Amino acid sequence: MDNALYTVSVPAAREAPLVPPPRDRTRALKRHLVESLRDLREARRPEKLIQPRSPQPQGFAADVVRAGCTQCQGHCCRGGGEHAYIDERTMARVRQAHPDLDAAAIIALYMSHIAEQAYEGSCLFHGRNGCTLAQPLRAELCNQYYCNGLWDFLKLRPLPKHVEVLASNPQTKRRSVVKAVKPEDGTDWE
Ligand code: SF4
Ligand code: SF4
Repeated sequence: MDNALYTVSVPAAREAPLVPPPRDRTRALKRHLVESLRDLREARRPEKLIQPRSPQPQGFAADVVRAGCTQCQGHCCRGGGEHAYIDERTMARVRQAHPDLDAAAIIALYMSHIAEQAYEGSCLFHGRNGCTLAQPLRAELCNQYYCNGLWDFLKLRPLPKHVEVLASNPQTKRRSVVKAVKPEDGTDWE
């Protein structure tokens, strides 16, 4: 069992070209950010909206998650559209972390992270190498979400040492063997 190869099955996003972000989509994102900040301003108890950051996989577990999302090419990010799942709760956390930034500066910060080349029709932060937003700026949904294949792997105790990632949809199969071996004292979670 220790040396058995464990297969992590993830979806494979359908092929899409990388394109510069269209102007109408970046405008829609900006409008969404303005609305999220307005919702935060109008909240009766804004401090209650701040969510704790979710623990993130570390070490070998993080390597496998990265391999999975790289092979998959961001199937779940296709739903991020022009909102990236950002809402007033995301803004509450960002405002707490950056008390020096006003609303215009926060919007400019997000706009500066839009992928120069994003997958057509996907989230505007979905670039060739994955998400262009740093984790503290992402919606907590993005920080928490793992598809079933990754989640099943992350729940295993102990983690398997040899893993292959298989990304597939009816049209394609992409396989990647993660040869990394989990160190005996490796940390799995933050
Ligand atoms: S979490 Fe799953 S569906 Fe989303 S990008 Fe990663 S492998 Fe793909
Ligand atoms: S913000 Fe990043 S993780 Fe979230 S949907 Fe967009 S590309 Fe994916």
